[in-house]
Amino acid sequence: MSIKVVPALSDNFIYLIELKNGTICIDPGDAKPVLEALQTDLIAILNTHHHADHTDGNQELKNRFNCPLIAPDDERIQDVDQFAKEGIPVIIDELIFDVLFVPGHTKSHIAYYSEKLKAVFTGDSLFTCGCGRIFEGTPEEMFNSLQKIAKLPADTLVYGGHDYTKKNIEFALSLEPENKELKRCGDAPWSIDQEKKRNPFLRTSDPSILNALDMEKSKTVEVFAVLRQLKNDFL
Ligand code: ZN
Ligand code: FE
Repeated sequence: MSIKVVPALSDNFIYLIELKNGTICIDPGDAKPVLEALQTDLIAILNTHHHADHTDGNQELKNRFNCPLIAPDDERIQDVDQFAKEGIPVIIDELIFDVLFVPGHTKSHIAYYSEKLKAVFTGDSLFTCGCGRIFEGTPEEMFNSLQKIAKLPADTLVYGGHDYTKKNIEFALSLEPENKELKRCGDAPWSIDQEKKRNPFLRTSDPSILNALDMEKSKTVEVFAVLRQLKNDFL
């Protein structure tokens, strides 16, 4: 069992999970790089949310391999065979995924967690050292979604949908230039434990972030909203 990272489009990550009996593909924004990277047949396609850069390869891959498409219940995703819902595990071959409902980036966004793989596939909710933009939710929803992911076991690796890590680390260092964990951080993926020590969006209760924003007396969700706005404006 292994996880292969397939870079796609300008800065997307598609993930291939190679099992004994075939491969699972997560968020194929483009079919071509998937077809080039595949060593076996696809046995399932999983989507985290409806955006084109995560779903545009669905149809071509489905047609080619005749495999099921599993996705959140959202009319903006075509031809779904099985809706993924929190509380109902998605079982594919030897793997079981827990579905986490993580709205904020979009209103039906989900993440897939596998205890066996020690991995969570977060789409555009939690990124390495950052988080997705809030398009269809409130800061509070996005905050709660990230907190839900942060409660997974500390050694779970976080596989996000985009390669924004360099920029995210720059932003984090602009807030916490003395954060030793950030200064000596390695390549993605990072564990939940590492995210909590480095990712400003999971550190909204930490004195060092509160101090940097001069928001010691503010509510955690307000701190989160300010952080997200600062990141939107960060060049
Ligand atoms: Zn997206
Ligand atoms: Fe995206």
